[in-house]
Amino acid sequence: MGVSNLLTYPQTFRDIVRLINRPLSLADSKALIRRRLAAREARFLRFVNRYIYQYPRSPYLALLRHAGAEVGDLQQMVRQHGLEGTLEALRDAGVYLSFEEFKGRMDVVRGGRTFRFAEGDFDNPRHVAGLEIRTGATRSRGSRVGLSLEFIAEQRAPSYHVMLQVIGAEHAPVFLWTPQFPSGFGISAWFALAHMRRPPLRWFSMTDTGGRAITWRHRVLLGTTRTLARPQHMDLPLPEFAPVSATMVVLDALLGARRRHGHAALITSPSAAVRVASLAREWNESLAGIHMLVGSEPMTPGKASEILSSGAKVGVMYVFSEGGAVGVACGDAAAADDMHFMSDCYAMILHRRPIVGVGELDAYMFTSLLDSAPKIMLNVESDDFGEFAIRRCSCEFDELGLHHHFASVRSFTKLTGEGATLLGTDCVRILEEVLPREFGGRSIDYQLLEAEDESHLTKLFLVISPELGLIDEQRVLARFVGELRRRPHGTMLPLWQEAGSVQVLRREPLLTPRGKLLPFHTQAMVSLLDQMRSTSPVVARSGPEG
Ligand SMILES: [Zn+2]
Repeated sequence: MGVSNLLTYPQTFRDIVRLINRPLSLADSKALIRRRLAAREARFLRFVNRYIYQYPRSPYLALLRHAGAEVGDLQQMVRQHGLEGTLEALRDAGVYLSFEEFKGRMDVVRGGRTFRFAEGDFDNPRHVAGLEIRTGATRSRGSRVGLSLEFIAEQRAPSYHVMLQVIGAEHAPVFLWTPQFPSGFGISAWFALAHMRRPPLRWFSMTDTGGRAITWRHRVLLGTTRTLARPQHMDLPLPEFAPVSATMVVLDALLGARRRHGHAALITSPSAAVRVASLAREWNESLAGIHMLVGSEPMTPGKASEILSSGAKVGVMYVFSEGGAVGVACGDAAAADDMHFMSDCYAMILHRRPIVGVGELDAYMFTSLLDSAPKIMLNVESDDFGEFAIRRCSCEFDELGLHHHFASVRSFTKLTGEGATLLGTDCVRILEEVLPREFGGRSIDYQLLEAEDESHLTKLFLVISPELGLIDEQRVLARFVGELRRRPHGTMLPLWQEAGSVQVLRREPLLTPRGKLLPFHTQAMVSLLDQMRSTSPVVARSGPEG
């Protein structure tokens, strides 16, 4: 159900009224997280019973029955082995879904039987989606996910409250600089901040707010919420178009707020945070007193050090469209993207699986525990992998009982190009640290672009921003390939060994359809050529030798 139902579904209107009129304080948020943690196992059993066993159309029923697990068995398992122990046993019995299976792109084969599910089969059957967003797929149009306002109120608002506190921005005025619809990043934060009674001062949109991505229904949704917020003395801003080329507008707003209030907070993406930090350096301004919460792209060590060297504080979120904010910023971070796992809203286990040419990686596998979750997830892979461990820290989340931390979170799909072209995190380090150090520019000025033509032939480009000016492109390329060859994990990938397979492309790094800037980007050759015609960049041809 989409926003199209706004006017016919009084539920959405009631949700907006509740979100605005019943605000959630920081103290409420902490109490809520504590309460949810204390009842985790019971909530899991209730959730599974309500959304799977008592819902005949649930796709999980077939998998559970195939594994011979009835609701009584689950109760006993949880008593004996705890929640995570139960989930691991279910996974081993075939009750899980890979990301591709969950998206309905692959058959599910378990113990000789084949199941096929559609993406919509996993929608929460009992919830009205107040707004519809699109997921950030790199090569396709992505897929639609309905998001209920209740989910934002229950999940996003408490986590934003505590995150802003742990990064030192409890009282700082907040700004948003996010991609616009159909990305859910900005609008979720906007609604969460409204519920927290911390309306953003301004909402900058990286994509054109007049564009056709915004339907009139979205406008009605925002307009209704603004009108309802006014009697509560809340002035909720509408999005203002500020593309990445207008970084000065955002930095200027932040510095102005810091002058008036002593500090300011910005919710944005890591690459946009790098732009703000590097422009501040150009202006000879320290960003002390500026607190950034970043999400929607991976936070890498290269980007983190660029942001931190500006004097800004930064916290990282791990959000995926189907699930919500599963990882929240640690205020006492031990890694560039150290995050607490929101174990009050989800359960998580690891799924070790082999990846060609790399070895084994631990995929994250989530189970939803919230009634308002947009998708019903029971052992569902999120397409991401990384570190996951218990670590005690000194921030508020630890005190609340959230002891599991994520770090070095990366996506399988975004690290895997066509076939087995897995490039690994070493490649990110070369693009974001080695090349900027030796040839100038910032982490966001280099990108590896994989373009695919209609017959699925792959071309690789090393994208270098024109902002770097006159540089020896062949030396940059030779350095890149030479560094890759020194990878500790051995062999060069076959694709790289073909002479002439990598070309330098002078243009701004490409964004995904959802406005993300990633170190690796995959795009259909046709649309790349379209863009090249319109921007006429310089292509320098070269082999990888050197
Ligand atoms: Zn912490």
